[in-house]
Amino acid sequence: MATTQMPSKIETRLFINGEFCPASDAGMFPLKSPTTLETVATVPEASAQDTEDAVAAAKAAFPAWSQLSPHDRGVYMNKLADLILESEKDLAYLEAISMGRPISGYWDAKAAAKKLQYYASCGWNGQGRTSLNTPGFVNMTLRQPYGVVAVIIPWNVPVYFFINKMAPAIAAGNTVVIKSSEKAPLTSVRLAQLIQRVGFPPGVINVLSGHGNISGSILSHHMDVRLITFTGSGRTGRLIQQAAAKSNLKNVVFELGGKSPTVVFADADLEKAAKEAAYSIQWNSGQVCMANSRVYVHASVADRFIALFKESFQSVTMGDPTESRVNHGPQADEVQFNIVNRYIESGKKDGELILGGTGVPDHKGYFIPPTIFVQTPENSQIMKEEVFGPVVNINTFETEAEVIQKVNASEFGLYAAVYTRDVNRAMRFATSMQAGTVGINCTSPTGAFDLPFGGWKSSGIGREGIHHSLDNYLETKTVLLKVDGL
Ligand code: NAD
Repeated sequence: MATTQMPSKIETRLFINGEFCPASDAGMFPLKSPTTLETVATVPEASAQDTEDAVAAAKAAFPAWSQLSPHDRGVYMNKLADLILESEKDLAYLEAISMGRPISGYWDAKAAAKKLQYYASCGWNGQGRTSLNTPGFVNMTLRQPYGVVAVIIPWNVPVYFFINKMAPAIAAGNTVVIKSSEKAPLTSVRLAQLIQRVGFPPGVINVLSGHGNISGSILSHHMDVRLITFTGSGRTGRLIQQAAAKSNLKNVVFELGGKSPTVVFADADLEKAAKEAAYSIQWNSGQVCMANSRVYVHASVADRFIALFKESFQSVTMGDPTESRVNHGPQADEVQFNIVNRYIESGKKDGELILGGTGVPDHKGYFIPPTIFVQTPENSQIMKEEVFGPVVNINTFETEAEVIQKVNASEFGLYAAVYTRDVNRAMRFATSMQAGTVGINCTSPTGAFDLPFGGWKSSGIGREGIHHSLDNYLETKTVLLKVDGL
């Protein structure tokens, strides 16, 4: 039973300088439901001219916006939070039909509203320091916004990423151009409608739909964009960083991919560990940067743990993500579906398949069932690269030293987890695992609102979080004031 209805008309146009408009060259791209494979919308592809217009609008809006008090900027942001909460059902529905996210687990709107409410009052924290440590001087630092910030987001949790980046950027006084993912553009346009309803000054927030080429690439190379904040793959992150280097050395904040390990010792609560680790790789059909796609279990409890994991992982309800009973939707599109299937085929050559690994004949969409491989060599492709699907590799280990070496033999370092009742061992792992976040007796997506999130190694540059993000969007200036007679 479908619990939400298609809104009567889906807005798809670009949002530039406070107005909705078609692409300047009338370019459009089709958006297919990954469940029904039918076209659910045709979406304007932002042209080079549209991207230029959006940056110009943001640049023009910057002086007035940056001069507002944090309180006055916050008034707009709080109103937007209210409208997002009112629109929760629409947003969930639009995500379900575009990238297959089940409405049953849709938390993004509430989380986005909470973040907006926090950042609505956090502009006041944009403060520098003062110093009397240089004789004859009263010195200080000022924190000032960069100007135009480009925000490029992926398709897996779009509303949350849109707000998580945009809110601290505008709270700090910047203006923004946001480019959504071509796989999930509808909720970003819906947010643009709410932004227009709030009455933000034109140009403060501009929203483009389109592919990496054209609009993403132009934003990355643009001389008027002083900072780019990006969540997505390492491959694209590298292209953006090259573009930044070739243009104006714009600052970058990157949240990239992962190949997160979870280590389970014999003394752990095995039922809890199995259930949580299975959820970590199943949620959002495994399309989660921090999903624990590598699980290492102590050989002495491997059989029991794997049986528990399998039981939990396979008990999903696959189907139409607009139905409230469903908790396992399709992969986002044909490209993702094919990528995941290619990894499954390579996994079959290297490891032992004990669950899934086949198509789902009774669904015509891009469904991939929960899939488990065991005893896969550490140097095989599927152990090294991000699959981004409901596919897990479970290997066994004997000693701490051996498993730490395996955990850290990855170019990724986003999240790592350890399950053990031994506090000394837990802390040895917390300090030696190379990851931006370590869970002890918990795994991803467990997080903490007030602590930083980000990746070590190739999983990212910089940190996001309520005490950290504002800092990303403020430049620092040292002012030296010589005082006669001091
Ligand atoms: P992607 O890199 O393919 O695309 C992300 C965005 O970049 C899209 O908007 C895309 O249009 C744009 N883009 C593509 N080419 C570009 C270019 N040349 N210049 C500028 N922009 C360009 O990633 P995706 O498939 O949308 O998302 C999945 C990836 O994101 C996974 O690797 C996942 O781990 C990662 N991710 C990381 C986090 C995190 O917090 N660390 C969170 C979610 C997703």
